[in-house]
Amino acid sequence: TVANNIKVETNGHNNNNVKENKIVNETPQDLQEARRQLPVYMVRNRLLEEIKKHDTMIVIGETGSGKTTQIPQLIHEQRLEGAGAIAVTQPRRVAAITIALRVAAEMNTEIGSIVGYSVRFEDVTSPRTKVKYMTDGMLLREAILDPLLKKYSVVVLDEAHERTVSTDVLFGIVKLAQKERSEKKLNPLKVIVMSATMDVDSFKKYFNNCPVIYLEGRTYPVTIYHSKMKQEDYQFAAVCTIFQLHATAPANHDFLVFLTGQEEIETVMYNIKQIAKEAPGPPIRVCPLYAGLPPAKQLQVWRDAPPGTRKIILATNIAEASVTIPRIQCVIDTGVVKERTWSGGTGAERLSVRATSQAAGWQRAGRAGRTQAGTAYRLYTAAEFRARPMHQTPEILRCPLASTMLLLIAAGVEPSTFPLIDTPPPDSVKASLSLLKELGAIDSEVNPKLTVIGKKMSTFPIEPKYSKVLLCAPEYNCLDEALSLIAVLSSENVFHTPMHKREEAIKVKQKFLSPLGDHITLLNVFKAFCKAPLKKQWCKENYLNHKNLTYASEVRQQLLAICLKLNMTVTSCGQAYEQVLKCLLCGLFTNCAWQRGGAGLARSAGRYVTAGGAAAALHPASALQALRPPPPALLYTELLATGRTYMLTVSAIQPQWLHQVAPEYARRCRANR
Ligand code: ADP
Ligand code: MG
Repeated sequence: TVANNIKVETNGHNNNNVKENKIVNETPQDLQEARRQLPVYMVRNRLLEEIKKHDTMIVIGETGSGKTTQIPQLIHEQRLEGAGAIAVTQPRRVAAITIALRVAAEMNTEIGSIVGYSVRFEDVTSPRTKVKYMTDGMLLREAILDPLLKKYSVVVLDEAHERTVSTDVLFGIVKLAQKERSEKKLNPLKVIVMSATMDVDSFKKYFNNCPVIYLEGRTYPVTIYHSKMKQEDYQFAAVCTIFQLHATAPANHDFLVFLTGQEEIETVMYNIKQIAKEAPGPPIRVCPLYAGLPPAKQLQVWRDAPPGTRKIILATNIAEASVTIPRIQCVIDTGVVKERTWSGGTGAERLSVRATSQAAGWQRAGRAGRTQAGTAYRLYTAAEFRARPMHQTPEILRCPLASTMLLLIAAGVEPSTFPLIDTPPPDSVKASLSLLKELGAIDSEVNPKLTVIGKKMSTFPIEPKYSKVLLCAPEYNCLDEALSLIAVLSSENVFHTPMHKREEAIKVKQKFLSPLGDHITLLNVFKAFCKAPLKKQWCKENYLNHKNLTYASEVRQQLLAICLKLNMTVTSCGQAYEQVLKCLLCGLFTNCAWQRGGAGLARSAGRYVTAGGAAAALHPASALQALRPPPPALLYTELLATGRTYMLTVSAIQPQWLHQVAPEYARRCRANR
């Protein structure tokens, strides 16, 4: 099997210390010089030869070797894409945006012309775009309209090792498209699979033993330290470690800290800034990096701190392999990641903080050795590390598949014969199809076809549950409200509760609270935001997140445009908020919970059991927390499992509503309870 593998060594030392990271200040010459220093540049001719020769190829190379930014450019410079375009997929939207900006700068063109990006709710491309960075989810959406991907002559599936559901499904889509395009004598589709680390064998097998190219860039040794003792609180441990190191490490050493999400990053950032006022050591610049961060803020990460200042980057998993941050000498790895999981049994979807795999541990540590020898501090013990699984389970094996199934069916693919690298558990497929059936999106669970409503649902870039809500809204006279609500639910937390002003923030929030629960509270916030003349200032005064609310209003615009295309009429139910909740229930009926042991029992107050049979409690931040007696039935948006299982974003509902909106499901729930 090694016969057609090429092993390419880029020997010698490439001086990566050249100025390579100031998007704005760098001259085109600097950028070109930086490109020539990358490992991929040394092998460009071989690489291009191989791309010309083969229809499918796998490229493996250390993070930072130039795969994502360079390979599409090299292809374009040779005009290998012909009349078509080059699509490059990324699992994360931040990565797609920052990389496209970087490549546009390197090619000395405006973003959105030759180089563009397309992510959910934002399309910065034009008919001239030849190199298009996009999320894997976006390419999958395009595949519904055109399963042969005729617009593209080259599809680069990047970060394949992440094994997101969308990338996994795209493997099948491109494989089928290649076959059909060749049968129909259309122009061939070139597929390049790229990855930093990868279980190559399964991919190679999947793509009929295609050639694999290894880029071997220079990496420097990284010394790894583990905690001596198990850490109870990794955020606290991270802050302690940062300041221990800060006191002694040279000022030009930058730190990269792995955390799990925006809120956590904001909390840690605040703590660092507070402690830094008194702690010994050079001045500090803290840079956050997470998916929802606006592009301008993201770029801070790649800018040099003033001389003598230490840069501390607080990042989510995005910094593990998707983007390269130069000059990190020290990595602090909390060993956790936020992961969406799903338990087929209870039907509960969870967003939970979980231990990373060993492979992720190595990747994270490796971020410290890009430009010189570095150090990685794992905030977990060596024994804990050894006990972890080697690789993360592919998402397709642990996530709900309703929206993927809907897309496949919409693309005219029969789910049961679709070629996947890993077949999802039959339970999970069955549960997704049965949800789609219950939502009225498909006609049958065997050999499913989209219904009229299912077809409409598939045109929204949101979960089928939510698109169902929008489609039901005219019936409840509340499309205006439903659009706002779904838009807010699609963005990150709109409340901003800084640790040091918690009390104050909670007090201010009171004015938005609705006794009906969190959904109407969110609606109140969004309405007030839309009316506020000076939005930024207003958000500040009301402890709201301006950026996330702005994002929500952009999302609302997009959803509205789709609704108008579907000829839906936008009307408002005014203050009749029960209409909104009933409408919400039309899509989210599987997210009901009932008080345990029936209402009125003092000892079971506040303890609920979900429709899927999980024991769950109201999240402490819920607007319903203070309501006495606690409502007998609830509708939640999300379950969060952190030791206890909490219901997030919850409203009170009348138990009989479920019978009205989803009678069949209600009967089944009753039978199971
Ligand atoms: P790979 O895909 O192999 O991990 P990339 O193509 O993403 O590598 O990155 C190649 C190099 O380009 C990195 O080493 C980094 O120095 C530089 N680079 C990438 N993105 C940016 C950016 N947004 N700003 C500055 N430099 C960047
Ligand atoms: Mg990359």
